[in-house]
Amino acid sequence: MRPDILNPLFAEISALKGVGPALAKPLERLALARAVDVAFHLPVSFIDRRLTDELSMADAGRVIGIELTPVDYRASGSARAPFRVQAVDRHGNGVALVYFGRNSAWPRKLLPLNEPRFVSGKLESYGDTLQIVHPDYVLPPEEAETIPAREAVYGLSEGLTNNRMRDLAGQALARAPELPEWIEPSLLARKGWPGWREALTRAHADPSDALARERLAYDEIFAGQLALMLVRQSSRKRRGVPIAGDGRLRAMLNLPFAPTGAQRRAFGEIEGDMAQGVPMLRLLQGDVGSGKTLVALMALLNAVEAGAQGALLAPTEILARQHYEGLRRMVAGLPVEIAILTGREKGKVREATLMGLADGSIDILVGTHAIFQEAVRYRNLALAVIDEQHRFGVAQRMMLAAKAERTPHLLVMTATPIPRTLTLTYYGEMDVSRLDEMPPGRQPIQTLVMSSQRLEEVVEALARHVEGGGQAYWVCPLVEESETSDQAAAEARAEALKMRFGERVGLVHGRMKGTDKDAAMDAFAANRTQILVATTVIEVGVDVPNASLIIIEGADRFGLAQLHQLRGRVGRGDKASVCLLLRGGALSETARARLALMRETNDGFRIAEEDLRLRGAGEILGTRQSGEAQLKLATPEHLSALIDAARDDAHLLMERDGGLAQERGQAARTCLYLFERDAAVGLLRSG
Ligand code: ADP
Ligand code: MG
Repeated sequence: MRPDILNPLFAEISALKGVGPALAKPLERLALARAVDVAFHLPVSFIDRRLTDELSMADAGRVIGIELTPVDYRASGSARAPFRVQAVDRHGNGVALVYFGRNSAWPRKLLPLNEPRFVSGKLESYGDTLQIVHPDYVLPPEEAETIPAREAVYGLSEGLTNNRMRDLAGQALARAPELPEWIEPSLLARKGWPGWREALTRAHADPSDALARERLAYDEIFAGQLALMLVRQSSRKRRGVPIAGDGRLRAMLNLPFAPTGAQRRAFGEIEGDMAQGVPMLRLLQGDVGSGKTLVALMALLNAVEAGAQGALLAPTEILARQHYEGLRRMVAGLPVEIAILTGREKGKVREATLMGLADGSIDILVGTHAIFQEAVRYRNLALAVIDEQHRFGVAQRMMLAAKAERTPHLLVMTATPIPRTLTLTYYGEMDVSRLDEMPPGRQPIQTLVMSSQRLEEVVEALARHVEGGGQAYWVCPLVEESETSDQAAAEARAEALKMRFGERVGLVHGRMKGTDKDAAMDAFAANRTQILVATTVIEVGVDVPNASLIIIEGADRFGLAQLHQLRGRVGRGDKASVCLLLRGGALSETARARLALMRETNDGFRIAEEDLRLRGAGEILGTRQSGEAQLKLATPEHLSALIDAARDDAHLLMERDGGLAQERGQAARTCLYLFERDAAVGLLRSG
């Protein structure tokens, strides 16, 4: 239960004065649902108001505050034209106060003729006259002092003014209580940070107050680290299933290649973990194409050899099917039973699978997150592997652990190389294995950037490629963020290509029926189609080694990490591969630089670092899709500067007071609730 002291702050936003139906949409667009969201919606800059008594052309473009006297109203004939109040300063210089789209009664009331008023707003030059459009403030002169000279400016959305936002922030701040200190005293002193409430107040009063911001960012990072450590602690307290396979199944594997040194190393680490009585918590990191699937298979077989079961989770239906087929191929001839379970398995098939899992006749289950929702009971689940983990969240990881009587070993595989700060932020509770070596014989992928105006040349190149026996992906651009429009773009492109290439063209997108998706993927994998037009559903994991050309339309609209993922669909066989990035016409300097980086390097870590800098964590981790809490206060710079301290601090606290029962521990609980790590606090009770 959230401590009572936080309740006022966690009230619905409608509890704030002045929040009516008209603000519902604008607030929703900014994801401001509760007072606490407003409190953490920090200003982005501030207005420096120039207080003056004389209008001057030189101040055009600035926000001024000045005493004016209205001398005339200028209503124009048409309803759409603005209403103007002509006013003068005490030296007789004139300015027009302009009001759009309202009836004139309101400005007339606000600005009666010949009565001085203090007016503040942005002064603009309009030809050789001056004007202020919709002044921010119009007050009787004696109230001029109530307006601050320096004023915070907030991120806004249509229908929400800065004045209103500032008022809401003030109300939210008034609800923010003094909280007990959770930061280690020596760290607090060394950094010179203010207490929590003071930091929040200061960050709203002055966006340039770096210390206040840093303190708040630290709190957020600290809460994250502490939560992950609680997850780890609770997992380590559980009983796992010690697994030591005898290697007989693995010895029977008939692989067309030898594992790389990195694969062997990673597998050794996993084997070591699995032999323990505490459940494994391990992250397997490896760039696209580094061969994570084989490592997963070895771990799964280790479990099966020991008479236990394993599960492999994939983020998409396509990927689950592909893993299912792939694993079945690899273990062909071995006494290993593999089944698949996704949202699509229904009726008798599903029943049979559930039975097989319960009685132990199924050794390995492959599926999507539907596995979480199903009434799945295993006879003896010893290992769960999550592929392309970035679509799953910590909460789901915890849910999976709760599925089994004894906590299964957990292996998480990330599709994207993640910068160290993000690894710690999102997977801090895990041990890490790295596949830092690519399978041999890979040809580097050549990346070219071309204007989309040269589409005809691109199609010619594609024609030559398929005439020569090759296969290719054609990825369609992201249209806004809606899947429907992605789909429309993909369908249109597929139609256009079919005019030229006929039945050689396949199509796959997220909105397709599952069986149609399968059919399209199967046809491409079996080389019955040579060109696969797709949306980003192929982003993760799809493996067709004969495809050695990928064309990505609207490449400037993708994140770099995502482009890297997409590019990783080729370069999987022994043929030299090409990635064509098609860009739009007018590109910003940044967009240009980003595409240049893609051309220049195939180093996933470098690309991810750059993406983190340019677009934030959500893009790399794909957490937007999974709804995982994002960092609201901490910037990537804060992360790199503070994560180690936060980690050490959280670690120290856990060592001294793992139950978070003492004074600082209790304070830290409040911090967890403040950043909505409630689930982690829950682990303390079930302990
Ligand atoms: P990812 O790490 O992106 O999941 P995959 O597991 O899909 O990579 O492997 C990429 C490709 O490399 C697959 O076609 C796989 O069969 C192949 N592969 C994996 N390990 C090796 C190896 N040791 N030697 C050669 N090829 C390998
Ligand atoms: Mg993979």
